[in-house]
Formats: sequence, C-alpha cells, structure tokens
Amino acid sequence: PIYMDYSATTPIDPRVADKMIPFLREQFGNPASRSHMYGWSAEAAVEEARGHVAALVNADPREIIWTSGATESNNLALKGAAQFYKSKGKHIITLKTEHKSVLDTVRELERVGFEATYLEPQDNGLITVAQLEAAIRPDTILVSVMLVNNEIGVIQPIDEIGELCRAKGIIFHCDAAQATGKVHIDLAKTKVDLMTFTAHKTYGPKGIGALYVRRKPRVRLEAQMHGGGHERGLRSGTLPTHQIVGMGEAFRLAKEEMDSEIVHVTALRDRLAKGLMEIEEVYVNGDMEHRVPHNLNVSFNYVEGESLIMAIKDIAVSSGSACTSASLEPSYVLRALGRSDELAHSSIRFTFGRFSTEQDIDFAINLLKSKVDKLRELSPLWDM
Ligand code: PLP
Repeated sequence: PIYMDYSATTPIDPRVADKMIPFLREQFGNPASRSHMYGWSAEAAVEEARGHVAALVNADPREIIWTSGATESNNLALKGAAQFYKSKGKHIITLKTEHKSVLDTVRELERVGFEATYLEPQDNGLITVAQLEAAIRPDTILVSVMLVNNEIGVIQPIDEIGELCRAKGIIFHCDAAQATGKVHIDLAKTKVDLMTFTAHKTYGPKGIGALYVRRKPRVRLEAQMHGGGHERGLRSGTLPTHQIVGMGEAFRLAKEEMDSEIVHVTALRDRLAKGLMEIEEVYVNGDMEHRVPHNLNVSFNYVEGESLIMAIKDIAVSSGSACTSASLEPSYVLRALGRSDELAHSSIRFTFGRFSTEQDIDFAINLLKSKVDKLRELSPLWDM
C-alpha cells in the first residue's frame, strides 16, 4: 500500500540510516567512558547531535536532554515540573486534544493530588489565549499545550501562550513531537520553558527523543529516571549513541530542507484537498490556515467508518474510527471539536511528506472517489 501515515511515523531518511551504522559497528563505545578513544569518539558524536537538535529550534545545546521519545519527554516534563514546583501550587492546565502521553500523565498527577483543567478547543481545533487566561488560577503552576496536533495538524498559538505564562510566572510545556521540520521554532523568541521532541516523526529512528529545558530563566525538574546521573542527573541511563546520531542527522536535514519540503508538501496537500472536495458531503476537520501542510483530515458523511477503512486498504492511512484503536470510542480529538460520532467514525487522516509524490495523491483521490461512491450506493441513509 501507498504510505500516507507520516504522522504515525515517517520512513527513516536513508542518509540518516547511513550515519547511524558506524555507531552500531566500529564506534560502539559508551559515551560515558572517559578513559579511552572508544568513549571519546562516542561522546563527540553525541555532542555533535545535541548541537543539531538545538540548532533546529535555536536553543543552547546544554538545554537538550536525551530521552527515549516524546512519551518519555512528556512524562519527564510534566511530572518533573509538577513535583519540583508543587509547593507553589497544584493546578495544571492542558487541552482536551493533547496526545495521550500528556493526557494520561496529567490524569496520573491528578491521582496523586494535583488538580487539572482540560481546555476545550473551538470547532477549528484551536484554543485562544483568552480561554487560557480565564482558566488560570493563583495556584496554577504548569500549562501544557501542544504545538501541532497529531490528528488534525492544527498549530496552536504558542507565542502568545508563552507570553501569558511568562507574565504570570507559570511553567509552559509544549509537545512539539509533530512540529519539527514542519514549523519554524525559535526558542530564543518563543517563551516555552519545556519542549518535547521525538526523532521518528521527522525521518529519524524510533526510540529516541529529547526534552528542551530552558536555562534562562532556569527551569528545574525532578528526575524521573534515577541511576548513573547522565544528562545532568535529569535522565540516567547509557546513551544510545547510534539513535542519538540518527536524531541529530534527521534534525540537521530538517533545518536544511524544511523550506523546500513545505513547498513540496503544500502542493500535494492542495491537490489532495481539491480532488477529495469533488466528492459530495466531505468535511475537513481542523482549521486550514493554522495547520501544517503535511496533514489533511476529512470526514465522509453517509459512509460507515469501518467499511471505508476496509475498502481503502491500498493506501496506509489513519482513521478516527474506533476500529483502528483499542478503545470503542471514535477519535476523542474530533469529538472535542464538536464532530458527531458518525463524522468522527468516518474520518480519514492523510499525512504525507518528504517521499510522497503526485502519483500517490492521485491514486488516493481515485480510490476514495470510487469506494465512497460504492459504499454510499449500499447505504440506506444516502439517497441523492
Ligand atoms: N506526542 C504527540 C503529539 C505525538 O503525535 C506522539 C506520537 O504518536 C507522541 C507524543 C509520542 O511519541 P513517541 O512515539 O516518540 O513516544
């Protein structure tokens, strides 16, 4: 099948894989080994990669902490900050449309005595700063708002949120797992205190990520992984040099190629949107203006979600339908936007990227046109 599920994970860029191989073979040293060449060369590679990650977001390399991915970064940021600052207050604010690795972590913090407010986005998937401001309490210590939503690709106003949080003395965490290489991030300007990254959504390997931890003004965290004191004591564990080198190369390429990639992908997205809009009763989910070009999420009215997914097996996509997840509920993100259960069930998330082509897009359009037609002919609700 044609791969159109880049937001689940991207293919690894071959240039990234090539960079990693020597660190699985000859340069296998432990970066923490201080007494010989093996250790030194591994450490040098780790620090070079840290520089590439920092450069993509205009941060200081000392602000980058390696983790196993965005799930761990979100856990470390939220639990670490909540625990460190708990004497200042116990209230946390986040969004209903965050990834589960944020939502379930905040739920866990509620279980151990913190309080949380879950902001409801508008119909377009975005929140406003006024909404956030209204939810802030004297005991609010932490705000977590993602940069790019994984289901609908909308871009939240983190510049304004950062200004508000800084003015109120509240720590601002932002999950940018879906944003790197897609949106320009400048942490010298944007007042984010903690930012989550992962490699495998940006053409890097799975199982490696990072957390940005601001140094000016200094943000403190309680460590969640204790041991050898790696990563300034914030995250113990032997560093996976090959994974880190892969993430560094992936982020270096992202910085270099982001602008041309956005042009390429925007053209594909517009082509797909135009083609699918020729089908009747199709609805785009999420704002089209404040959105990454890699994502088009649409609902097909009068089509049963599970049948649709079965019918389009020749393309690899994600669906808001319950049949694609462990739960019986349709997408909680689309539900939070006010979509009906039916429209949430019959939604398809098309995500594409660096290696997608016009032919891929045209194939998807033709497949959807013919399958949606057929399914509607069978549907008792469709009589047009
Ligand atoms: N946050 C967002 C917004 C995501 O899309 C994902 C990926 O599914 C994650 C966090 C989890 O990332 P990882 O697989 O690196 O743990």
